Amino acid sequence: MPQSVEADRHCLVTGANRGLGLEFVRQLLARGDRVVAACRQPGRATALNTLAGEYPGRLHVLPLDVASARSRDELVRELPLVLDDARLGLLLNNAGVLHGGERFGQVAESDLETSLRTNAVGPFLLTQALAPLLADAESARPGAVVANLSSEIGSIARRQEFRTPSYAIGKAAQNMGSVLLAQALASRGIRVVALHPGWVRTDMGGAQATLPAEEAVAELLQVIGRLEAGATGLFLDRHGQPVPW
Ligand code: NDP
Repeated sequence: MPQSVEADRHCLVTGANRGLGLEFVRQLLARGDRVVAACRQPGRATALNTLAGEYPGRLHVLPLDVASARSRDELVRELPLVLDDARLGLLLNNAGVLHGGERFGQVAESDLETSLRTNAVGPFLLTQALAPLLADAESARPGAVVANLSSEIGSIARRQEFRTPSYAIGKAAQNMGSVLLAQALASRGIRVVALHPGWVRTDMGGAQATLPAEEAVAELLQVIGRLEAGATGLFLDRHGQPVPW
């Protein structure tokens, strides 16, 4: 289990109620971080609410529909109350959506819009709105990391076939957002990276996927923990190897 670089670091995870998001919350708590877990329906987030009981005061569950401007605004208003003067050391833009079974000739505008809003617009605007709450680099402490859960399916360079177009377009747009955020936040020592987790067994990845969520998340947290100062605007896989844009 990788250790937290900074004791008592505050982390925010979106899409935290299931899949990779839930596993990020588990592993961050287990290593001693404080976590704000954001999800669309906290009242139904049974696993998160159980964890909140196991880690009193260290896990807060807040509502967030990342595709909704009003919901993002509410989170931005509520977060300072939870952080209590602290800044975020890690923002994990994990929430994502994939529409399966799309075929050329039948790609629906609504699926493209949902993917763009959820996979690209939401994380970009949420990060922009939360920027004042992200930790700046200081002499004794590295700046915050913003980690955007991307996918090699969003890599234009690796594109080989017509598959999941709305997801591919959404993640490619997210990737551009990651690079622009990296540029915007570099002067504060805040690093922004796009991460490809591999093919992971979650609702999205499906039962045939090769990796358990525990392994993918542990490796991604190691990649984040190994990022050096100035390592920003990168697209990395779970081994820390660059993925071509
Ligand atoms: P899941 O489908 O298992 O979980 C998706 C999560 O995103 C759920 O918590 C879901 O919440 C949340 N979500 C979806 N839309 C919204 C929204 N509008 N607002 C807030 N939350 C939302 O996916 P994974 O855990 O597998 O994927 C996590 C991330 O990793 C995604 O960004 C995905 O693209 C990426 N990824 C996953 C891969 C894999 O193989 N699994 C491969 C490459 C990338 P709810 O329960 O409310 O729907």
